[in-house]
Amino acid sequence: MQLRLLDVQALDIRLDQLAHRRRTLPESAEAERLLVERKELESEVVAADTLVADLGREQRKADADVEQVRTRRARDEQRLQAGQVASPKELESLQHEIESLTKRQSDLEDVELEIMERLEEATARLSDRQQRQADLDSRVADAEQARDAAYAQIDSEAERARAERADTAGGISSELLALYEKRRAQFGGVGAAVLRSRRCEGCRMELDASYLAKIAKAPPEEVLRCEECGRILVRSLNSGV
Ligand SMILES: [Zn+2]
Repeated sequence: MQLRLLDVQALDIRLDQLAHRRRTLPESAEAERLLVERKELESEVVAADTLVADLGREQRKADADVEQVRTRRARDEQRLQAGQVASPKELESLQHEIESLTKRQSDLEDVELEIMERLEEATARLSDRQQRQADLDSRVADAEQARDAAYAQIDSEAERARAERADTAGGISSELLALYEKRRAQFGGVGAAVLRSRRCEGCRMELDASYLAKIAKAPPEEVLRCEECGRILVRSLNSGV
């Protein structure tokens, strides 16, 4: 019965290892990392998209400004060419206005051009970020698939270990199992250890001769404890007593 306890202990260690592996899975960390990257990229896409929309509006406004000045200048030039202006003073004023409209149009066209360049740049950035987002989406999907496959493998191993543990524990008295659980909680997951060559495998200490002599005389059903670490000590064929 006590040897069975060692099998339960081995299965519990296995289950602890599987739980630890599940918590520290590199595939899971990678998926998390990519999701963070994805989120950062998402805000870059939103910012680039907003900029493109803003510059689009600015460009339409600049186009309208240029058009307005161009129309007015064309009308002035038409008046001038049609010889409708007789007074020299008025003629001078019209020529002056045409000059200033020409200058204004040229300035507005510079603005228009500058906005077009910025819009082109922003559109290129937006399309680059969208492309990167699509690439990242597929990498996230791959990473999540790898993580889920690893989880599934761990879970099925754990399920088998749990079934085996339930089977094995079935042959052990509830008192001994309860004691084992208590010690296990107390001693970092290892509640029962084998006595091998006079050494407790739980703490690796060699037991002193007087205690070994006591163990040698103890009936097999007696539950012993390691004097050094307090774990349940299970005798084996190689106990050395
Ligand atoms: Zn010990």
